[in-house]
Amino acid sequence: MNATATQQHKVLVLGAGYAGLSAAIQLAARTRKRGNLRVTLVNPYDTFTERLRLHMTATGQETAEMNIPGLLDGTGTGFVRGWVTAVDAETKTVRIDDDRVLRYDTLVYGLGSIANTVAVPGVDNHAYTLDSPEDAAILADRLTRLDGGTVVVGGSGLTGVEAAAEIAERHPELEVVLLGRQEPGASMHPKAKAYMDAALARLGVRVRSGVEVAKVLPGSVELADGSSIPAGAVLWTSGTRVSPLAAAAGLTVDERGRVVTDSALRSVSHPDVYAVGDAAAIRQGYGVMHGTCQGGMPTGVHAALSILRVLAGKEPKPFRFGYYHTPVSLGRNDAVVQFTHPDDSPRRIVLTGKRAAKYKETVTAAPWPTFARMKKMPASGAFWPHGGRYTRIRSAK
Ligand SMILES: Cc1cc2nc3c(=O)[nH]c(=O)nc-3n(C[C@H](O)[C@H](O)[C@H](O)COP(=O)(O)OP(=O)(O)OC[C@H]3O[C@@H](n4cnc5c(N)ncnc54)[C@H](O)[C@@H]3O)c2cc1C
Repeated sequence: MNATATQQHKVLVLGAGYAGLSAAIQLAARTRKRGNLRVTLVNPYDTFTERLRLHMTATGQETAEMNIPGLLDGTGTGFVRGWVTAVDAETKTVRIDDDRVLRYDTLVYGLGSIANTVAVPGVDNHAYTLDSPEDAAILADRLTRLDGGTVVVGGSGLTGVEAAAEIAERHPELEVVLLGRQEPGASMHPKAKAYMDAALARLGVRVRSGVEVAKVLPGSVELADGSSIPAGAVLWTSGTRVSPLAAAAGLTVDERGRVVTDSALRSVSHPDVYAVGDAAAIRQGYGVMHGTCQGGMPTGVHAALSILRVLAGKEPKPFRFGYYHTPVSLGRNDAVVQFTHPDDSPRRIVLTGKRAAKYKETVTAAPWPTFARMKKMPASGAFWPHGGRYTRIRSAK
């Protein structure tokens, strides 16, 4: 797999999210002076989607525009605007929605995840999502048109909590109901959970936990106990699902369709495919990583480093990552930050209030400057907590 000076090795990165963009920038920054590697990034938009701010877009707040081709300028990385419709792992080609076919020698698969709208009947047709800036803007429009009434947020995980708090703060004329199986903040330290509960109550969010949504209808949500909640809008945040493209390409995927990787982040079935971010099932000592931005960016950087090591004829290093925090916004001026052990279990340390809101904003705003810094100093992106004893895998591949 050594790329000689005469052969150009094509690396195709699918998805310019937190993980894919990290991979593309890291690769480009480390190889810009070498003519034998060609990196191309594919994404449906030429602006970077800060998913962490989509609940702000959904409440009509302007967010900064971040231009991806501008960021890549000077790195030699190609940018293809398009939607990937198929991956052929045998011919090593990727098809784009305008029927262009792109070839690769190495693929970085970083197509992320979206809300799971297919598990409960009616969600796909009648609920809003925060899957893209367009989806969030459609909800924003709907919320401004509601003249009072109820908005149901389905899913009491942290995305649901942040969205419910944001909607309640921006639309005090609306009643916000947060529905879910679990209590909000169930996995947090009791101190953090109590703070979250009080903040949601202050904002007037009505929490109904321990409930199962049976069906979403055009103007209501039907629960498994037979009761129904009238709703002018339903926002669905419960669960995630990934693109079916990896499974369709014959890559080994887990029960949720995520690409199963080895410790270097290569597909276990197709080692010329690397998988990063939410689209990958990456095992650590504590279990399979769950989708976050804090873990997604390191996966992109590590995949880039693995690719370069393999091309140089070296063994790639195992990826290790330990979580360190869970910052949750509760409207614009309040938040709770749960500091965690590397396996994501809560520590006793919790930050709340204005200082937590500032912390959350700093974290949310960090990726774009990090990409820009990586472009000049690739090593600056290669620092993250490795998780110590939590991430040691005894039977590492
Ligand atoms: C509202 C919201 C709030 C969140 N808050 C937090 C938080 O506070 N902290 C945290 O750590 N995580 C948070 N998350 C989760 C976090 O956003 C994800 O874990 C993170 O975005 C994963 O990065 P990624 O690069 O794998 O995927 P993404 O960032 O989703 O990027 C995937 C990219 O692939 C593109 N793509 C998808 N399909 C195709 C296709 N077929 N063809 C071409 N391109 C495609 C997408 O357009 C996108 O650009 C939040 C998520 C949401 C929705």
